Amino acid sequence: MRRSFDYAAVTNDEGYAADGAFSAAWQEVADRMEERSLHIVIAGHVDHGKSTLVGRLFYDTGSLPPEKLEEIKKASELQGKDVEFAYIMDNLEEERERGITIDIAHTFFSTEKRRYVIIDAPGHKEFLKNMISGASQAGAALLLVDISQGIREQTLRHCYILGLIGVRQVAVLVNKMDLVGYSEDAFHDIEKEIGSVLKRLGITPAYVIPISAIKGENVAKKSEKLSWHTGPTVLEALDSFTALKVEDKGLRFPVQDIYDIDGKSIVVGRVESGVLRKGQSLFILPSKAGTRVLEILKYLEDGITEAPSGDCIGITVEGDGLKRGDILVDAVTSTITDSVRANIFWMVDRDYKIGVPLTFKCATQEVNGRIEKIYRRFDPASVEIVENDASIIKPAEVAEVEIRLEKTVAVDSFSDIPEMGRFVLEHAGYPVAGGIII
Ligand code: GDP
Repeated sequence: MRRSFDYAAVTNDEGYAADGAFSAAWQEVADRMEERSLHIVIAGHVDHGKSTLVGRLFYDTGSLPPEKLEEIKKASELQGKDVEFAYIMDNLEEERERGITIDIAHTFFSTEKRRYVIIDAPGHKEFLKNMISGASQAGAALLLVDISQGIREQTLRHCYILGLIGVRQVAVLVNKMDLVGYSEDAFHDIEKEIGSVLKRLGITPAYVIPISAIKGENVAKKSEKLSWHTGPTVLEALDSFTALKVEDKGLRFPVQDIYDIDGKSIVVGRVESGVLRKGQSLFILPSKAGTRVLEILKYLEDGITEAPSGDCIGITVEGDGLKRGDILVDAVTSTITDSVRANIFWMVDRDYKIGVPLTFKCATQEVNGRIEKIYRRFDPASVEIVENDASIIKPAEVAEVEIRLEKTVAVDSFSDIPEMGRFVLEHAGYPVAGGIII
């Protein structure tokens, strides 16, 4: 489809989003590129201390605006308590739920190394949908376990989801160490138990850290009471994680649209991985036809010779005939297929019956198809297999499936190139499932 390019539409963030071609917020992209921000998920069973930890992180890193801090201190004093850290988190959530545009400064905390953005916990309704659709992307997770309770149902469910969405960097925080007198033996017992459970779910924690979120032990400051712990504090663990980096991978440039500007054909999209260079020879997937980059165009910038992953750009190329949904690559390492094996999360209230038509959407590709095999379906709460070789998927279940498509697509595995390994399934124009290619 060709239409003329409206420069006015790209002068503000809303314009980018509305236009679709420049959907990423520039600041966030720039931050990720320079490892200036890492998006983290805080997981764990209810009451194991997630809100308290978040409050603590905000407080100890001085990331709360003074007026907010004052308000919280007053509210806590009124109740005759020390600062109630969970209140900080609840307050932020309330604002988010009411749709109040909170200043971005309130939703992240910073260390000297970078800033951290906390994204919804896996327990939230929208979480999986956001993760799978790419609305948010977690680079790391903190998993809280209350030492007096051990691993509980939601701990398992959250771990399963972390595995499913491919979060590789996980720190387990054994919380409420104050309740067991900071006992090293109690910690090692639970550490062993957690290790074996996580192993079954395919997660290897980078660290297991004893903490007391409420007292701030081992959160921002090394704890004297837990001096037997030789590993890092929570903040040290976070700072040791790496931000998602896809520059070193092969180039993937999904074509979003083609615009006519001053008689030139401009191919727009976002570099999802690798680096796109002026003069570079490329392949167009899924056809594998060749082309070459003539120019790279970016809003308000001249003379660009390369665009790293995350950049939203326009390019001109040799030849004609590119269309939305084509994927430009530097080497044909993607899988080109009409059959995709994936884990999907069924999000709607109705069952799926094998064979019902669906639309498969991956990056900018959109192809009709249907699930032709359900290898197994899981109950994500218990992580138990409900049925092997099934013919239906029930609401809120996860299933390993084979999707047959009417045309070939180019895909990668999610753990390799997330943007090319996740997809959404739609039925009659509505998203019904999210999935990850395995
Ligand atoms: P969430 O449901 O996971 O967000 O848990 P909360 O942060 O709301 O905490 C649940 C309860 O545990 C609250 O009463 C907290 O005050 C308490 N709590 C949280 N962290 C600690 C801790 O380190 N030690 C103790 N003793 N209590 C804690």
